[in-house]
Amino acid sequence: MAKAKAKVKKGRCSKCGAGEFITTPNQYDVLTFSKGKFEIVGTELINDFKVFCRGCSAEVII
Ligand SMILES: [Zn+2]
Repeated sequence: MAKAKAKVKKGRCSKCGAGEFITTPNQYDVLTFSKGKFEIVGTELINDFKVFCRGCSAEVII
């Protein structure tokens, strides 16, 4: 992800003007490796998700 940061102005990205935003995936699977393959043992959620501009990938700070 890009390190640039942007703000929202009038509902749009302050850097590129895009009106759509995306989040990072906020859950992941926990795996173990046995018998030559990965097995999913559970899914965990990440509480603090970040928002990024869909247009320029800058992290959006509110
Ligand atoms: Zn942008």
